Amino acid sequence: MKKKRLIILGSTGSIGTQTLEVVRRHRDRFAVAGLAANSRFDLLARQIAEFRPAMACAGEDHDRDGWQRAARRCGTVAAFGAGGLARLAALRGAGLVVNALVGAAGLEPTLAAVTAGHDVALANKETLVAGGELVMRAVRSKGVRLLPIDSEHAALHQCLDGRDPATVRRLILTASGGPFRTHPRHRLHAVRARHALRHPTWRMGQKVTIDSATLMNKGLEMIEAHHLFGVPPRRIAVVVHPESIVHSLVEFIDGSVLAQLSVPDMRLPIQYALTWPERLPSLVRQCDLAALGKLTFHAPDAGTFGCLRLAYRAIAAGGTLPAVMNAANEVAVAAFLEDRIGFLDIPRVIGRAMRTVRRPPLRGIGDIRAADAAARAHTNTLIGG
Ligand code: NAD
Ligand code: MG
Repeated sequence: MKKKRLIILGSTGSIGTQTLEVVRRHRDRFAVAGLAANSRFDLLARQIAEFRPAMACAGEDHDRDGWQRAARRCGTVAAFGAGGLARLAALRGAGLVVNALVGAAGLEPTLAAVTAGHDVALANKETLVAGGELVMRAVRSKGVRLLPIDSEHAALHQCLDGRDPATVRRLILTASGGPFRTHPRHRLHAVRARHALRHPTWRMGQKVTIDSATLMNKGLEMIEAHHLFGVPPRRIAVVVHPESIVHSLVEFIDGSVLAQLSVPDMRLPIQYALTWPERLPSLVRQCDLAALGKLTFHAPDAGTFGCLRLAYRAIAAGGTLPAVMNAANEVAVAAFLEDRIGFLDIPRVIGRAMRTVRRPPLRGIGDIRAADAAARAHTNTLIGG
């Protein structure tokens, strides 16, 4: 069987390393044609030695000479920075580009991959938050596939597969609720990054872990679901489900609800995206419902966790406001991780940035870049950093 040639952007991160575990599990199916990362360069070097990709990309500031020499020893072409990422994402002969970058830095590589006619497996939800309209237009015009890796969207994809969109009443995203799910508002004042980084059910990169604690992650995922599945935001609901076993649900017009369940393990949605429309055995543990005993659900506290409302407001306004919200969130999360702002400042700062940033209307990628840059500069001023 011909191997599917993968380009993995963000290969040293949480999703990137788990993608390579899936590749190792199915070496007969996959080859690695490209890798990119901007952290843990020792690990990137080991990945290059193991998988021998045709091209690999490091961040702009990485030691160029040493990196080029190390790559050349493995027969790998070395690339750098944003330009290198775009070239790698468009590499000829790739079968699937896995975008596991974090933040809006993932948007342009996604567009480069789609423009080159490659299918994309998308973990980088910020791609669709900042540039969903442009990306989906490009996906349609190029006739490529955009497969979600995010567990909720992989669940929705499985529940929707092949069904008539006109029969869908609601998409229901589940949220773990993060580590502060049961905290009343007054206890959140004292919360620090080290507390927020202790996620109850998932082990993930720092940014998405903080986003899970603020519920911004669910806001970003609502926008992601809207673009992926063409369902209006008012028909996308969120329910808190602390056990993270039901990964999301689709309610149909007859009142029937379909859900996808599994233990929380990202290697399952990653493998689903890599092998779709096929299903293969995986590294994931069986889901023992009798041992779990019960699954619980409750409504999110949207008053305390204000980020969810901000996301509905951003997508209702549309244009470049979701890109502004996303950039303001990235700046606020970075400041929170450095203990420069408190937990409850995160939605406050993003809300202010959304109200006050001067943003261009959305005509093309340049406007998203401009809105993103303006939002970062303005949010930094608001924070005083
Ligand atoms: P992470 O921080 O663990 O990894 C990010 C990777 O991207 C690293 O390899 C990093 O070096 C690389 N990177 C970042 N900026 C780069 C740049 N400019 N150039 C080259 N490489 C760069 O993040 P993660 O937790 O793996 O999350 C990745 C994406 O997947 C995020 O959008 C996140 O929201 C989404 N996601 C993650 C999980 C999870 O379980 N980790 C689950 C669902 C969705
Ligand atoms: Mg998710």
